[in-house]
Amino acid sequence: MADDGHLFLKLPCNWRRACWLPACRIHVMTTVPQETAPSESKTATMHALIYRGASNINNPAWELHKRPEIQDATDAIVRITTSTICGTDLHILKGDVPSVTEGRILGHEGVGVIEELGAAVSAFHKGDKVLISCITSCGKCDFCRRQMFSHCRNGGWILGNTIDGTQAEYVRIPYADTSLYALPVGIEEEAAAMLSDILPTGFECGVLNGQVKPGDTVAIVGAGPVGLAALMTAQFYSPAAIICIDVDDNRLAVAKSMGATAVINSKDGNAIDQVRELTKGEGVDVAMEAVGLPETFDICQGILAPGGHLANIGVHGKPVILHLERLWDQNATLTTRLVDTVTTPMLIKALEAGTLDPGKMVTHRFKLGDIVKAYDTFGNAAAHGALKVALKNN
Ligand code: ZN
Ligand code: ZN
Repeated sequence: MADDGHLFLKLPCNWRRACWLPACRIHVMTTVPQETAPSESKTATMHALIYRGASNINNPAWELHKRPEIQDATDAIVRITTSTICGTDLHILKGDVPSVTEGRILGHEGVGVIEELGAAVSAFHKGDKVLISCITSCGKCDFCRRQMFSHCRNGGWILGNTIDGTQAEYVRIPYADTSLYALPVGIEEEAAAMLSDILPTGFECGVLNGQVKPGDTVAIVGAGPVGLAALMTAQFYSPAAIICIDVDDNRLAVAKSMGATAVINSKDGNAIDQVRELTKGEGVDVAMEAVGLPETFDICQGILAPGGHLANIGVHGKPVILHLERLWDQNATLTTRLVDTVTTPMLIKALEAGTLDPGKMVTHRFKLGDIVKAYDTFGNAAAHGALKVALKNN
């Protein structure tokens, strides 16, 4: 017991956490200051990738922009250290996502360091390394209480959509306590950045909704980053076979290296027959749609075994024909979902334990300042053999 009567002194003390004893003299001295000088952040600028409108030839543009500031007590300002580009960002550039207006900073994925905290944020401290979730959740609304963060009444997918996003030097994260995740020391940042969106998307919308079980036969239509994320995480459940289907032989080769037991190039239009042949006419227990086109949805419908699950992951812009005349007596289940990111803590643990290696998906690396070049590469993914790009801000 110490002289000042604090029994707590012999306990391990997290030096970054302020002591809960109001009169404690020891811990106060070791607490990291929580605030930056307000005058510094008020005037500061940064660089960011800005959506300039689909018809603008300078779209997107890497420009000087006002640095974000704390607006609400629940906000955090994060200095981005690794960001990346999503297929959704390419749709935004083409003008396919009307909720994104001109002048918006894009990006909903990334890793960074806490720069500044609102007064009500209690789970993080300045200097913490964090994973930014693509889904913002207030943690309090009815949807959040049902673990359906994607439909949070105060959040959901807003980053790089209705508020400024992560393809910038700094980003403001609302509801920081429930929208950021602490990253364990030593985690590879590039790999961690894959957990902002694509890993939970493939896992929750594909593997969990598809109810993959040991011994199942699984087919994944689409071997892009999200399809590959589904392929990686389906293996948590030891399915007997995972068949990957795509039109790009490069991506199919990657799928093979990541654990696909068979691959099919669907270019010639007979993927359904090939799957039937591979499964001795049975079809598959789980078919995941990871593209978002009527043709790929049709493949999934055509290969389901009785009792099968068709788990949609893809973003669809056109209607599909649902073949109920064939499926009505097949005990089939069709699921749809927007990623809730409820599995992010588990995926971080799997990453830390080494049972998940999503860093393999990073094929290209750029400085954050070269992001326009990175968009070119990612936008012509097939020509460059690109899956995910890592954007570094050191
Ligand atoms: Zn995304
Ligand atoms: Zn909510």
